[in-house]
Amino acid sequence: MVLFLKEPCGIFCVFLTYICVLYADYCMINHVVIPTLSNSFWGLSNVLIFNILILLLVVSHFQATTSDPGRVPLPCTSLDFSDMHQAASQVKDENKWTVCSRCETYRPPRAHHCRICRRCIRKMDHHCPWINNCVGERNQKYFVLFLIYTGLTSIHAIVLSSVSLSLPCIDCSEKYAFKTRQFFVISLILEGLLFGLFVMVILCDQFSSICNDTTAVEYVQKKGSQRNKASRNELLMEVFGKGPLYMWFLPCFAPEYSSKYDMDTSFIM
Ligand SMILES: [Zn+2]
Ligand SMILES: [Zn+2]
Repeated sequence: MVLFLKEPCGIFCVFLTYICVLYADYCMINHVVIPTLSNSFWGLSNVLIFNILILLLVVSHFQATTSDPGRVPLPCTSLDFSDMHQAASQVKDENKWTVCSRCETYRPPRAHHCRICRRCIRKMDHHCPWINNCVGERNQKYFVLFLIYTGLTSIHAIVLSSVSLSLPCIDCSEKYAFKTRQFFVISLILEGLLFGLFVMVILCDQFSSICNDTTAVEYVQKKGSQRNKASRNELLMEVFGKGPLYMWFLPCFAPEYSSKYDMDTSFIM
């Protein structure tokens, strides 16, 4: 199911992300590679590597933006709230399910209500305007891959742009060589530094949250995971899937999720 929230700040951030990606690709091809490396094998290889990274970045971003982060389904019929509270307290002891007063539904353990999505999200980490979606149980893999590929694209852009500044310009007029080229190359380095550092910080946060089995929401609420201690590998497999390692890095395979808390709402009836 393809989702897209109609939220102005999120739509602006998604639009800005694609503009920045297009600008970086334009600078890399037209002002880094063509003026200095167009006659060499390295030029072609670098354009290829840069565009593969951009493709992976864009697919990860698209998947993170349009995937269901783990929305808790709404009940088909409205429920009597007084009964809900009674039933919830009975269920709470055994399974730690709770009631969301805003969605008027039951939600599984570790689900939280997002005010922007206006829904409860399973294992919600945070709402990210850059993907205009929540980061939750079902799209965290895509979000982490988006950060990884943005980081790698930034590193590649910074290194190659810095090297190209020290190379002579092939067939460039003096005016182009000293003004236009430097403007685009330096702006690409600054863009790489800005986004590179930004995603590195969030990436460290994401891995710490995955390995400690505590989402950002739970960290703020000072709730640790109430599950039995799982190994780091098991926690990573929950996010990236149980398949071989190379599939962890491909943004086209959704991991299989535990159906432990799939909406078994039979007890509501
Ligand atoms: Zn809710
Ligand atoms: Zn949200």
